[in-house]
Amino acid sequence: MGKLYYCTKCGNTKTGEKQCLMCQSCDISPIPEKYISYIAETIPILNKDLENDFIKNVIKSSPNFDQSAWDRRVGYQETRKHYDDILRNEMEAQSHQPECPTCHSKNVQRISGLERGASIAVLGLFSKKINKSFKCNNCGYTW
Ligand SMILES: [Zn+2]
Ligand SMILES: [Zn+2]
Repeated sequence: MGKLYYCTKCGNTKTGEKQCLMCQSCDISPIPEKYISYIAETIPILNKDLENDFIKNVIKSSPNFDQSAWDRRVGYQETRKHYDDILRNEMEAQSHQPECPTCHSKNVQRISGLERGASIAVLGLFSKKINKSFKCNNCGYTW
């Protein structure tokens, strides 16, 4: 059975065996067996019911625990989740493919001017404020 590891410094539990990808610490420890549950009896995951115990009794009581590294990691992951939500909404919006108002072709493309070159995160944040325009590849109409 596989093992799960956690970073004793920042508490990252999605880490490799050798180094934490969040804080670059190499103080990685295996998560004690009792906090682990298994999906399909083979894939180890942190037991969600015991997650708070694990954080309190293991991570935060570790001598290596570093509150500022923890705060940075949690802040980063929340920001990431926030961007992921925005991006997912964007992708859902885009999956509703618009239709050309004149010939009703669905072969239309979004014209982006300002958006070009913007990073995907920035694009996610600002694209709602940018007036979108579309071009029909069938009849050439733009709107
Ligand atoms: Zn770490
Ligand atoms: Zn058209």
